[in-house]
Amino acid sequence: MTTTATDRIHNFSAGPAALPEAVLEEAKRDLWNIDGSGIGVLEHSHRGEVFDRVIDETEAACRRIANISDDYAILFMQGGATRQNAIVPANLLPEGGTADYHNTREWSKKSIKEAKMYGNVHVVASSEDENFNHIPDATTHTFSNDAAYCHFTENNTIFGTEFHTLPQATSPLVSDASSDIFSRPIDVSEYGLIYAGAQKNLGPAGCALVIVRKDLVGKHRANTPTLFRYDVMMEKGSRPNTPNTFAIYLMGRVFDWIEREGGLAVMGERNAHKAALLYDFLDGSDFYSATAKPGSRSNMNVCFRCTNEDLEPAFIAEATAAGLANLKGHRSVGGMRASIYNAVPTESVEALVSFMKDFASKNG
Ligand code: PMP
Repeated sequence: MTTTATDRIHNFSAGPAALPEAVLEEAKRDLWNIDGSGIGVLEHSHRGEVFDRVIDETEAACRRIANISDDYAILFMQGGATRQNAIVPANLLPEGGTADYHNTREWSKKSIKEAKMYGNVHVVASSEDENFNHIPDATTHTFSNDAAYCHFTENNTIFGTEFHTLPQATSPLVSDASSDIFSRPIDVSEYGLIYAGAQKNLGPAGCALVIVRKDLVGKHRANTPTLFRYDVMMEKGSRPNTPNTFAIYLMGRVFDWIEREGGLAVMGERNAHKAALLYDFLDGSDFYSATAKPGSRSNMNVCFRCTNEDLEPAFIAEATAAGLANLKGHRSVGGMRASIYNAVPTESVEALVSFMKDFASKNG
């Protein structure tokens, strides 16, 4: 069966999330037979010629789109973003050392909990006092003098908040960029390490992209499991064992798509435009409200509520029936969330705003 644009609906999933349709078409073709090899991408040896090319091209495209220098290693690691919560301190936090962490809830709390198993954690700033509806103001950040690194969750997928300026730490910045990586231009040289679960802006779940400054690698704890060591991953070209070959392949297709579309500058403009369509509408409405404070709002996950929260189940049910899927907020916060990653087209956001207007006029 040939897939047509009409058999797909608007997908606002927080992750795994919408992928570019052009990429899905390429994947369909390559699942069957990649590069005329007579073998599909899932069936090739991770040490064969075809996959050598796939992984090399994925890395090269990643370097090109984000202008990543050779001072940084690019690693494809199994296990998603949560596993990095342990892998980061195991590799970067020396015995008895201190790491700085920002607490913007959920994902950063999980990162903090895990890091505490490895050493001292100093919380630089928290937005807990206002239920995490903003990113703590830069003037309130208290960094420790001797931190091995400073961790922050660049975009809080659940509360819909996003750092729009980088923390001014003197220690290397470590970013969990799972939900906003490559959504806008990035200066990688400002970071010590960036990690991201692939399932939002990059590809399928279960694989993390790690971009790490090479001089930070090789200082792991003595008992760090071999497959958790960045030096091993670096030396073995992300292939100390069988990697997630499909995720690496698909990331490569996504990076190519980003390049074809005009690169991260174009992604950034589009994403800002899509987010503004929603936030402007929400700010002008008495029926709905955005939950994140201006200045901290995410361009990836737009969280909102109905003023009359009793209407929210109907909103979600009617939206789903209208072909607007996955708008339910995370179970820990309720309300609604529209995740509008790179691959979500402007038309999907326009369709959502139009539905929201109709729903408000029927129920207002
Ligand atoms: N960090 C952030 C910011 C996330 O949004 C998520 C997933 N939603 C995670 C970490 C966890 O990712 P994974 O499920 O790949 O471990």
